[in-house]
Amino acid sequence: MGTGYIFIGVGHFLLGMRHVLNDFTSIVIGNPIIILGVVLVYRGLFRFIGIVPKLDYRLIFLLITFLAGSLYYYKFQVPDINARMILFSLTYSIICFIPAFGLWKHKKKHFNVQINLLFTMYLVMGLFHSFRLISTIREDQLLDFMNAGSIHSMAVIASEILVIMTSFMTIWIGTDKLQRKLSIMSRTDPLTQLYNRRTFEEDCDIEFSRADRTKSPFSIIICDLDLFKKVNDQYGHQAGDEVLKAFSGILRDNVRKHDTVARYGGEEFVILLPETDSKAAVVVAENIREKTQSVRVRSQDGSNLSFSASFGASHYDHNNDDNWVAVLNRADKSLYSAKEKGRNRVVSSDGEETDQSSP
Ligand code: GH3
Ligand code: MG
Ligand code: MG
Repeated sequence: MGTGYIFIGVGHFLLGMRHVLNDFTSIVIGNPIIILGVVLVYRGLFRFIGIVPKLDYRLIFLLITFLAGSLYYYKFQVPDINARMILFSLTYSIICFIPAFGLWKHKKKHFNVQINLLFTMYLVMGLFHSFRLISTIREDQLLDFMNAGSIHSMAVIASEILVIMTSFMTIWIGTDKLQRKLSIMSRTDPLTQLYNRRTFEEDCDIEFSRADRTKSPFSIIICDLDLFKKVNDQYGHQAGDEVLKAFSGILRDNVRKHDTVARYGGEEFVILLPETDSKAAVVVAENIREKTQSVRVRSQDGSNLSFSASFGASHYDHNNDDNWVAVLNRADKSLYSAKEKGRNRVVSSDGEETDQSSP
């Protein structure tokens, strides 16, 4: 985009220096450079937004070569200012309609306002240059390009508007992108890509208010990898990280879309299950426990690592719980009891317990 802006500036400079420079440099080089600049700007802009441009560079190269060749012809072989302006306006309008079409076809996931504004700008630019083309066809032969009339002077202003609008949109889109990235970073755990503790607590606040109002159930499962320190000590921290990632994947794949899975601390994870009583929560935990013990993680020394986890579950008691922390505390006590009873098991605060193979 930056190179594009320089080209647009240099192109207009060469045109403006008509009386100082030779005609070849000013006309045959100046005009195509402006077009090339406009192309580079929209291609850069598309890449920044995440749109894959359809038009091939070879086609653009052909278009610009054709423009340069015909400008040469209508300057040095058959001098004709009107023909040159018609050709330039035609190329400029094509090069504006192409991005307008690309933006119109683009399925918008983000940056709706900016994309719509850019679409409008390129469309208006394309129409303006088409209008200039038609009015030049209807005009009498012009004798001096530098005093050709207001529509031709406005073409220079149109290029400036294009530069200002596209650079302004780039800043706007960039700010939006950064904001989105920061929001994701502040809500997720970088190692596992699960939600972090803060997001979990926010979701619990929302869920508790909802469940309190509607008198509906919700449950919390807390789980902790068994003897995880040994994994680190025996296979290294890297292997430990891989186990954490593998376990996170199991958690993510075995809950519903509206459940919240979060990394609560080192090797401790929590799941918030809306509309779920403790019986159903135990089923979810048991399913995860079984899948966990059948997964293998390959360590750097080539050995297949197996691991297990213990689970504590509890549900919201409408009569006694003032907040979700009470539910989490009971789940935590159940987890402690699961560890005490030998690990690799699910214990619910209702006293429900599932049995299992050895860790
Ligand atoms: P228990 O079955 O009683 O839970 O035993 P444990 O060994 O899992 O428990 P302990 O609390 O003694 O050890 C937790 C270990 O988790 C210690 C710490 O080094 C490791 N750990 C915490 N966060 C990370 C991490 O991000 N990556 C790795 N590799 N290890 C971590
Ligand atoms: Mg542990
Ligand atoms: Mg722990």
